[in-house]
Amino acid sequence: MGLYKDNLTVAIDGYSSTGKSSFAKIIASRLDYLYVDSGAMYRVVTLHCLERGLFDNVDEPLFEDIINELPAIEISFRRDEEQGLNLTYLGNRMVENEIRSMRVSGRVSYISTIPEVRAALVRLQRGMSKTGGVVMDGRDIGTVVFPDAEIKIFMTASPEIRAKRRHKELIEKGLKEDFEAVMHNISERDRIDSGRKTSPLKRADDATLLDNSSITIEEQMIWFFETFKEILNNGKSSRD
Ligand code: C5P
Repeated sequence: MGLYKDNLTVAIDGYSSTGKSSFAKIIASRLDYLYVDSGAMYRVVTLHCLERGLFDNVDEPLFEDIINELPAIEISFRRDEEQGLNLTYLGNRMVENEIRSMRVSGRVSYISTIPEVRAALVRLQRGMSKTGGVVMDGRDIGTVVFPDAEIKIFMTASPEIRAKRRHKELIEKGLKEDFEAVMHNISERDRIDSGRKTSPLKRADDATLLDNSSITIEEQMIWFFETFKEILNNGKSSRD
């Protein structure tokens, strides 16, 4: 065992573009835990459905047609040691950038309302974390995927700040997008994610709130390790 307990579950949920992934990735690397981006999994399902033409001429394809595609979708994360990054794969194809496009962002929340899609992905998410410590981010990690997680965080930030961050990220990836379109997409996803019947986005009763509107990522790390010091050092794990 390293400096900290090695088999805790850290569940990070929150609104779109609150910087959950950056926050979660750094924590996972400092704890030497596995990081799982659950949103990437919903994005892969969406990309596959787009490529199969399910969204051609319709905004909301039939649930049944989407569910029928599930057996054909193989999602994995593979480590690129050179870049020091975990990359998302659909079958044998690296789709890390494609799944971040607005084409996918504009449809992913619809796909995420489908209970059968959620059940399949939750099964995968639970399976990925069997061997040890995990940091997972998403919308229902502390409420549905790991209700017994030892550490739960709910992240929020002002909508303007979130849109600015997301817009910058897209531009840096070479994806030219209009700021207003990004802002609209973020508020639409929040609306659909919070309002859906199955596993809506909501703060778990035992989640600690983190509003990072005006604090740096390094300040967030200090907050995290201070706030959860005791659990990280002595916490009784659900896997003990
Ligand atoms: O985290 P990210 O913004 O990439 O997630 C994309 C979308 O996937 C969210 O807007 C939401 O609709 C869906 N999602 C979800 N449950 C999760 C993670 C993501 O419904 N655990």
